[in-house]
This record gives sequence, C-alpha cells and structure tokens, in this order.
Amino acid sequence: MRALCWVAADEVAVREVSDPELRNERDVIVRVRRSTTCGGDLPLLAGRDPLLRAGDVLGAEFLGEVVEVGPAVRRHRTGDRVVVGASVACGGCWYCRQGLHSCCDNSSVDLASADPDQGRDAGGFGRPRA
Ligand SMILES: [Zn+2]
Repeated sequence: MRALCWVAADEVAVREVSDPELRNERDVIVRVRRSTTCGGDLPLLAGRDPLLRAGDVLGAEFLGEVVEVGPAVRRHRTGDRVVVGASVACGGCWYCRQGLHSCCDNSSVDLASADPDQGRDAGGFGRPRA
C-alpha cells in the first residue's frame, strides 16, 4: 500500500509500505479514504520526536472503510464506514471506560520498547512506535 512517510526534518514522501496486519484480536484494519493533519503533526514534520525514524507512516486522523476485523471485535464489521481519532485505545480498560482514552492500558503493541524515561502513555495513529 502507499502511505505518507517521514523521511527527514521537513521532508515527507509517499512510499510503498507493507500492508497492515491484525496484530491482536481486537484490531481493525481500515482502508483510509481521507486523512488530515493537525498541529500535533508539526513537531513530527520538524523531526523533533526522538522516536521518529525515516519511513515511519504519518497521519493521525482519518476516515475510511473497515476491511478486516479481529475475532474479538464486536462493534465493527467489514464494510463499516468509520471516522478515527488520533488515540489508539481499546475501549474496554478502566481508563477507556472513564473516557480517558489517551491513557489506555492496551494502547500500544510496542510499549515494551518505549523509552522508560519518557513515561507510559497511549499510542497514537501516525505517531512513532504506536
Ligand atoms: Zn483502553
């Protein structure tokens, strides 16, 4: 698939990247139809995130069509049209049930490699190591 990738500070490019895969039973894969940028993307574009690597896919808020769902997904099915916010959140942990999605316990699949000095927070679409 094609995606907007960070290349270097103030340089992005549309590149071929691996197709997404379901990584856990609650994942959903969305074919993106429209995307946008916001102020939160500016530090990334400038290369000011220490976790950012050349080739990382950008884009945090988007809409599209669900094309695949994991076996534990109950709210969505293939063909649903969805609008997606920036936070990666499970919707079921204590934080999510309180509406605190940015603190989700099950957000990032890559938390083990997160920098412990940076603290633990939720992953975000279009953010490094989400
Ligand atoms: Zn959660």
